[in-house]
Amino acid sequence: MSSIFEEVPTGKEAVLTSSYTELSKVIPEMLLFDIDGVITEPVTGEVELEAVNEIVEILERGKPVAFNTGRGLNWVLRDILPHFEARVSNRSVISKLCVVYQKGAFRIAFDEKGKQEKSVTAPGIALIPNSLREEVIQLIAAKYSETMFPGEEKEAMLSPQFKPGADFAQYKVDQERLVHDLQTMLQRYGLNDQFRVDPTRIATDVEDKHLGKALGSRQVLTWLKEQCLHPEYFITFGDSKSDVGMAEEIYRNGIPVELVFVGGKEQLQGMHLPFLVSFTQAFCEKGTVEYLKSRSRERRC
Ligand SMILES: [Mg+2]
Repeated sequence: MSSIFEEVPTGKEAVLTSSYTELSKVIPEMLLFDIDGVITEPVTGEVELEAVNEIVEILERGKPVAFNTGRGLNWVLRDILPHFEARVSNRSVISKLCVVYQKGAFRIAFDEKGKQEKSVTAPGIALIPNSLREEVIQLIAAKYSETMFPGEEKEAMLSPQFKPGADFAQYKVDQERLVHDLQTMLQRYGLNDQFRVDPTRIATDVEDKHLGKALGSRQVLTWLKEQCLHPEYFITFGDSKSDVGMAEEIYRNGIPVELVFVGGKEQLQGMHLPFLVSFTQAFCEKGTVEYLKSRSRERRC
């Protein structure tokens, strides 16, 4: 087993229990997708309609599908979901979809009429206190407004972002200073044990330490349990190293899993993962289409 995998805590929180397995309906497989760079073009954010068509076809066959994104719900509802809603034969088809957002903090599903249900918060996580949020917004305005803006509104995360058009090299210098400022602020609030500062390429996330793609997978497993569905096999799709956690968590819960990695291969260098990793010829959203189309061809043969 790989060193990376061994770092993942084992055992205790496994969602599947013997009674669950007995009661639930066994389904052959479950597809779980990151969204950015997997269903959308990573730079323009444009939705890949061929990927949407393939996923809609799966939903139309009554098979469940889930999304696991770090983005907020407003973005999913505004920029992503309408493409699916426009293509389903009947709104009830959407009831097979689970959307996990803000790195596993929340999930939504849809009733039999396709109406959005109340969001469910992951147990045991802390949301961003209002006072901290206000102070960070003020800090960005006072000190970092040349290269950053406060970012998408999210209850579980603060994500000050790179300001489009700003000098990227200057942004990276500012980001280092911001990380230091945020860590100092968390300490002052006595929150440094609960929250972390996670600098990414174009944003600096402040979030509960439990948030991540693995938590997102746990949310999906809980949703499946509520639906009394027991997949025998998971196929997870990601384009970033952080997406590996999505497959690891499924594996840790004892379900065979495959990671379809549509990002640059070099990101997984040195990782010896204990499950199948499939790479595609094409990258990102085009890689997703390539994989899904080859599967539908196989099914027709
Ligand atoms: Mg992505």
